[in-house]
Amino acid sequence: MIDSHSHTCYSKHATGSVNELVRASIEAGVSILTITDHAPFPVDVDNRLLAGELDHYFADIEQARTAYHGEITILQGLEFDYMPGTEAFTRDLLARYPLDFAIGSCHYVEMPDEPMVKVWELPRLAAEVFLDRYFANLEGLVSCGLFDAVGHADTLLRGLPEDVFLRRFEPLLALLAHSGMAFELNTSGLRKSSLTSPTAQEVRGLWSYPSQHLLPQLIAHNVPFTIGSDTHAPEDAGAGVAELMRVLRPLGLERISYYQGRRRIDVDIDILLPEGTSTILKQGAARS
Ligand SMILES: [Zn+2]
Ligand SMILES: [Zn+2]
Repeated sequence: MIDSHSHTCYSKHATGSVNELVRASIEAGVSILTITDHAPFPVDVDNRLLAGELDHYFADIEQARTAYHGEITILQGLEFDYMPGTEAFTRDLLARYPLDFAIGSCHYVEMPDEPMVKVWELPRLAAEVFLDRYFANLEGLVSCGLFDAVGHADTLLRGLPEDVFLRRFEPLLALLAHSGMAFELNTSGLRKSSLTSPTAQEVRGLWSYPSQHLLPQLIAHNVPFTIGSDTHAPEDAGAGVAELMRVLRPLGLERISYYQGRRRIDVDIDILLPEGTSTILKQGAARS
C-alpha cells in the first residue's frame, strides 16, 4: 500500500511521533510512506513546522528510515500552502531541503471584506466570492510549477454540491494536464464531516471527497494520481487507501503514482490491490 500524505506532531495539530506513525503504517499494511508535515508558512504559524524545526524533522525521518529499513520505504515530503504572492517564500524553502515529494494545498483564502476563509469552515464554502478566489488560487498553485501534486483540491465537497464544484474545476483540467502535476486522491474525505446543504448541520459518515465524477475527466486528460490518508494521528495510518482504490478501480483508475527525489513513479493498481478484489469491487460498485 502507498500512503503519500501523512502528518506527525511536527504539524502541532496532529499527534504521534515519526516513529509512532511509521510503526502504525507498517501495521496498517503501508509499504511506501511519505511523511508530509505542514511546511513553514506565514499564516497559521502555530499549526505547522517552524523553519527552525526543519533540520530536526528531516533528521527524525532519516533515523526512522534506518530503524525500519527492510520493513517500509519512508520518503520525506512537505505539504506546502499556496496563496498568491507566496511563491518566492516556497521556492526558497524548496531550494534548501532535498525532498522526495512536495504537495501544494489551498487551506486559506483571503477575502475582500471579511476574514480569511479556512477550507474547513464549511458554511462559508458555497459563497460565490469565496469560490471565485479559491479557484483563482488553485489556478495559481497549478501554474507556479513548484509542486508535484495538488493536495485535496476537492475538499470543498465537504460544503459544496458536486455539480457546482465540477463546473468550477472543469476549466482547470487542461491546465492541470499541461502542468504534469498529479491530482491527489485524499482519503480523509471518507472520515471527515460534511454538510448536506449549505444551511444544514454537519454530518459524519458521508463520503465527501475525492470527487467520483471528476475522476473520469482527470483520467481522460492523462492526469497522474497520488493517494494519501492525510492521517493526523497514528491510528489513522493508511486509513481508506485500500478502500478508495477498490471503489475507484472500476471507474477506470489504473495507476497510482508516488514521488521519490521529486520524480514520479507509477504503479499499476493491480499490484496494490490483493488478488481477487476486482470481483468484490464490482459488487460494491453495483450496490452504491
Ligand atoms: Zn491539507
Ligand atoms: Zn495534510
